Amino acid sequence: MTFQNLQLAQPILRAIEEEGYSEPTPIQAEAIPAVLQGRDLMAAAQTGTGKTAAFTLPILQRLYAHKPSGKRAIRALILAPTRELAAQVHASVRTYGRHMGIRSVEIYGGVNIYPQTKALRSGVDIVVATPGRLLDHLNQGHLDLSTVQTLVLDEADRMLDMGFIHDIKKIIAKLPHSRQTLLFSATFSKEIKRLAATILSEPLAISVAADNTTADRIKQTVHPVDRAKKADLLSYLIGDRNWKQVLVFTRTKHGADKLSRRLSADGLPATAIHGNKTQAARMKALKAFKEGRVRVLVATDVAARGIDIDKLSQVVNFDLPEVAEDYVHRIGRTGRAGHAGEACSLVCIDERHLLSRIEKLTGAKIEKVLVEGYHPDPSIKPEPAKPRGGRQRGGFGGRKPTARGAGHHRGGNFSRKAR
Ligand code: AMP
Repeated sequence: MTFQNLQLAQPILRAIEEEGYSEPTPIQAEAIPAVLQGRDLMAAAQTGTGKTAAFTLPILQRLYAHKPSGKRAIRALILAPTRELAAQVHASVRTYGRHMGIRSVEIYGGVNIYPQTKALRSGVDIVVATPGRLLDHLNQGHLDLSTVQTLVLDEADRMLDMGFIHDIKKIIAKLPHSRQTLLFSATFSKEIKRLAATILSEPLAISVAADNTTADRIKQTVHPVDRAKKADLLSYLIGDRNWKQVLVFTRTKHGADKLSRRLSADGLPATAIHGNKTQAARMKALKAFKEGRVRVLVATDVAARGIDIDKLSQVVNFDLPEVAEDYVHRIGRTGRAGHAGEACSLVCIDERHLLSRIEKLTGAKIEKVLVEGYHPDPSIKPEPAKPRGGRQRGGFGGRKPTARGAGHHRGGNFSRKAR
């Protein structure tokens, strides 16, 4: 299968070529023809499978093939759960559409609303948005969604987890009834299926093969250690293993800040991203990390959701996540696009139950490796978890761990031509 076989127009093929993609990923090969035919889609795919291009490329193709005669109007609306993901999807829209004269805008909160309003007024073909800020604009009459032909819900499971269901329904009520809807989700819970049943019409169900699971693609290790020694161990590992770029997950915002200060004090340039930071600060931190000026990025789950760091080879779970599925999302930041990746977890005695939950979800035991000088003290007894400081999930701070199925992991390897 080649991109040429997929009947995409020359300006799109040129952009794909410039990105260095040699062939469509499995989800792209399945989704692109269906979207071009105008079908609805229900796709099980995580970040890392090439899902963004799977919906962006055919949307661009449809816009290109049917140029409107009159004034520019919004023809595609893409909804994403977080600002980072919206910004990233928008960057892809711009990349793949750069030879097409298409106009698009990204809409999310935490930044000045005025430039967004201005862009909307001047006319755009594609809007990429988080639900909350889009509703603000809708309520203020800044945009008209009655011309939308294609709606995409990206990472729909996250949108529901973050409590966006009512916002999504309000937005959908403003769209034409007859439209194409594409729903992407890493997992298919009852809630997602219920939503899908109400908004999709005879959808094609696509599931990226689960044969190439995280466990196969990413080397995973657990380092048992006492809680009080975790920061020391992390500092040691970064130096000893000479990790140049490492993404570290903590459970709380406060924990992320504290750890990044500690690592910086140890001479390891570090910065934290989490929900209390402004959008500008998060973007700045991400940029510094991608450019190698910051060696360690410490993040909470929400802040890191969907961020795409090319060739990131090392992920560390400083704390294990309370929700086992977040583990899969976290380690999925590494080992992207066929590159090797490693994920290690620093696990103290209080986190053993979280580890069992993860192993149950992924269906595999994770190798335990003791690090010399950091063996846990056998006299330390488990302590009940302290209540967390700060809400973690856009207003849904205390989400209870759920026992959802292992679901769909990332798809097969795919290649990028050497640039
Ligand atoms: P996504 O799953 O959309 O987050 O994409 C993950 C990564 O795969 C991004 O860095 C894309 O640039 C890259 N990518 C998407 N499609 C392809 C392809 N056909 N070949 C190689 N890399 C790709």
